[in-house]
Amino acid sequence: MIAETRKIRLIMELRQGGVTQTDVLTAIEKTPREEFVPELFRESAYDNRPLPIGADQTISQPLIVGLMTQALAPDRRCKVLEIGTGSGYQTAILARLARRVYSVERIRDLYLEAVQRFDRLGIGNVTARIGDGGLGWPEQAPFDRIIVTAAADRVPQALLDQLRIGGSLVIPVGAEGAAQTLWRIERTGEGFEEEPLTGVRFVPLVSGTVG
Ligand code: SAH
Repeated sequence: MIAETRKIRLIMELRQGGVTQTDVLTAIEKTPREEFVPELFRESAYDNRPLPIGADQTISQPLIVGLMTQALAPDRRCKVLEIGTGSGYQTAILARLARRVYSVERIRDLYLEAVQRFDRLGIGNVTARIGDGGLGWPEQAPFDRIIVTAAADRVPQALLDQLRIGGSLVIPVGAEGAAQTLWRIERTGEGFEEEPLTGVRFVPLVSGTVG
């Protein structure tokens, strides 16, 4: 099957899975996932599944990327913080929808590959750095949206602190291998409102940096 047909099939699968917002589907359609996976997996780039990206990490399943992006609902005015750059695929999708994306990755090699991809694809509104994302990015706070693409045992306080009032955080919570839940947390004038979205499976959010 040629790439375009595979892509159309994937978009249909995402719709069936609950990704209904046109801007999110368009962003996914326009982002070449084959550029974010290792050469070996290019054939599978439009399969609805996670794929290995090295360093024991994975590029997320497209359906999960779609559902998380839809739950985050970034718009052109949004300053977004992403924790867990990985391949940079989710970052690239956010960059199409938001004003600016700040992305933190703890593994140097993945960070280096991701920034090369952003350059190659001409993505200019992303600022990436190596760091422990559990600490957020205090110098750039507050953020309108925060998305975490690794599972935390509990929601890091720093991320809640760095969320603007009226803003929201999308984060998987739960231990590695155990049941994890994707949460959407909104910061209101009074505090935080939490809403469980769906069961998920993510690699763990780990403190410290590598490389
Ligand atoms: N959104 C990525 C998914 C990558 S998997 C993609 O689409 O490719 C999760 C990523 O989170 C991994 O790259 C992992 O190294 C990173 N990660 C885990 N703990 C982290 C932390 N504390 N700070 C920053 N990145 C972290």
